[in-house]
Amino acid sequence: MNKALVNKIIPFSSVDGPGNRLSLFLQGCNFNCLYCHNPETINRCVNCKDCVKSCPTGALYLEGNKVLWNSSLCIKCDECIKICTHNASPKTTLMTVNEIIEKIKSVLPFISGITVSGGECSLQSDFLVELFAEVKKLGITCFMDTNASTPIYNNQELLKVLDKAMIDLKAYDNAEHLSLTGMSNETVLRNIKILASLNKLYEIRTVIVPDLLNNRHTVDMTSKLISSIDNNIIYKLIKYRPLGVRENLINSTVPSMDLMNSLSSLAKKNGCKNVIIL
Ligand code: SF4
Ligand code: SF4
Repeated sequence: MNKALVNKIIPFSSVDGPGNRLSLFLQGCNFNCLYCHNPETINRCVNCKDCVKSCPTGALYLEGNKVLWNSSLCIKCDECIKICTHNASPKTTLMTVNEIIEKIKSVLPFISGITVSGGECSLQSDFLVELFAEVKKLGITCFMDTNASTPIYNNQELLKVLDKAMIDLKAYDNAEHLSLTGMSNETVLRNIKILASLNKLYEIRTVIVPDLLNNRHTVDMTSKLISSIDNNIIYKLIKYRPLGVRENLINSTVPSMDLMNSLSSLAKKNGCKNVIIL
């Protein structure tokens, strides 16, 4: 049975797809976005032990050379995350599909589905296939919130059990995408086009970062792309907020509502019907 490294589970979320959903955050990402708001989800812990002494409650301890976490002693102060220089967290748990299904069953009457996010969830796609197959037996929907950097469109097993994807398109220009994330956006764009043609694309998201990105170009091109495929696909424009970011990598202001409204108007002018500012 597959296991996934889980960063956290939020039993009820109203911002990760339609309705009330359980959100599952997996550890590990292949992007290194300059504005990442959860950099502690990027890498897996390398057991350097630096954080163990910072824990005020003894929730972190050593077993041989491994750093382990006792969730019952954790007071969620995040001192360990502040200390870590590896963009990792000691507060992760290796979980089986059955263990996650039990968590889902405990809130099943109150949710319409689950959304798996990250980190980057498609990096653990074998686990997703097994999990989604079991979740569908419960009669609820399976979404993934993804950077779309892996060819989801080629993974027939995953496509069979995936209801919809929510995809980040962080920059339309490939050079800008490369300098922002460390990777090309070619696969991202291909995923968007193919998943939309299969009616498996729920929304596209772009973070608006005034002092770093050519936001107008990305919104212009992305909204034209959405309109050319299916203008009902949601286009979510997300305000950059400097919360949890690595301040040595980014220094940007928060976009004004004037800027957000003008980008929203541009997307609507290009034909998008469902533009949301967040
Ligand atoms: S968040 Fe939890 S594990 Fe981390 S330092 Fe605080 S108490 Fe310890
Ligand atoms: S979470 Fe970070 S600081 Fe703590 S042991 Fe792992 S890599 Fe080291």
